[in-house]
Amino acid sequence: MDLKFASRMLNVKPSATFKYNALAKKPGVINLTIGRPDFDTPQVIKNAAKKALDGGKVHYTPTKGIPELREQIANKLVSENGINGLDADDVILSGGGKQILYEALQALIGPGDTVALQNPCWVSYEPMAYLAGGEVDWFPLKPEKGFIPGTEYMNRFEKTSAKVLILNSPSNPTGAVISKKLIREIMDICLRKNIFVISDEVYERFVYDGKFYSPARDYENVLTVNAFSKTYSMTGWRLGYAACYNRELVDKMNLIQGQSLSCCTSFAQYGALTAFTNEARKESDRMVSEFKRRRDYVMERIRELDCVCVKPSGAFYVFPYFGVDDLAFSEKLLEAGVGVVPGSPFGSCGKGCVRISYGSANVELLSQAFDRIEDAM
Ligand code: PMP
Ligand code: GLU
Repeated sequence: MDLKFASRMLNVKPSATFKYNALAKKPGVINLTIGRPDFDTPQVIKNAAKKALDGGKVHYTPTKGIPELREQIANKLVSENGINGLDADDVILSGGGKQILYEALQALIGPGDTVALQNPCWVSYEPMAYLAGGEVDWFPLKPEKGFIPGTEYMNRFEKTSAKVLILNSPSNPTGAVISKKLIREIMDICLRKNIFVISDEVYERFVYDGKFYSPARDYENVLTVNAFSKTYSMTGWRLGYAACYNRELVDKMNLIQGQSLSCCTSFAQYGALTAFTNEARKESDRMVSEFKRRRDYVMERIRELDCVCVKPSGAFYVFPYFGVDDLAFSEKLLEAGVGVVPGSPFGSCGKGCVRISYGSANVELLSQAFDRIEDAM
């Protein structure tokens, strides 16, 4: 049979992070591709999920998620992020931050609409914009500026006709953390130009220098997106959430969810009910301190290499610029026994860079990996 696929499939590329992770799963390869913590999920969360399973929490939940978890998330966003006045009905849970972002773009973007993206940015934003029928307006960032927006960026941003901006600080793949002052400058432009902002805050806790800032603290035109995936090393649980003052948007996302996913996994949600306890928080803090140590070690080793890399303040990635063919260079490093993700799938400004994730390897492994990188160079 001659099967014709929908035209929306034309622009969808495979996720480079998953692709290179699969390639690096070979014996002897130190895998620095995938963006995930190598820690276990805190025991208290696992115990609660097990108890929920044994207690019969095996059925559908409300499409938005169980009310008690949405309430806890709303409380967290109010008390920690300063997003005052939110309540459980302003929150939706979904199958990971990725599904949340997908639903948000499906709800907001259609043919003729444009999404503004930082260049480079996480590999899935662009295909999600295309899957929604939209276009992308790219905003270049430079390695020598630590991939932080500067005057050129702001001047270009003033001229965009985008409907939605996706902001991601701390950033995947660069680790850049944008200051409150700069985020506010960007938000002021968005407010003036009626641009809606999706603030992807999945690396919120992974800030090593400076302070994290949620724009929804001071602006209403924002959907705040987060997940349990990184904060509690729960990438396999598939649990993300979003909140917004505009409840209509949350309800539209819920409509999509009700006709697609139905709801996220019941016992995963019950497990996550313990994520805001001191016990789980302490585990998460321990992981973040370890990652800071890794970031500092990685920077020591990067400084010895012939590349441009401003010390990133957050996430668990470095994105050094080597000025070479990044696809061929990544292949060469894989042959040398180190898996990395080439920079170009993150956007044209990622050309010549590679992404190194220190989330999934301890200092000892990182040390071996950098020895191999030095030899390969
Ligand atoms: N946003 C960014 C910037 C990411 O790096 C990721 C990948 N983890 C996600 C969203 C999606 O995370 P999740 O695993 O919760 O779907
Ligand atoms: N976000 C992580 C990464 O960038 C996990 C894979 C993915 O979702 O792309 O590696």
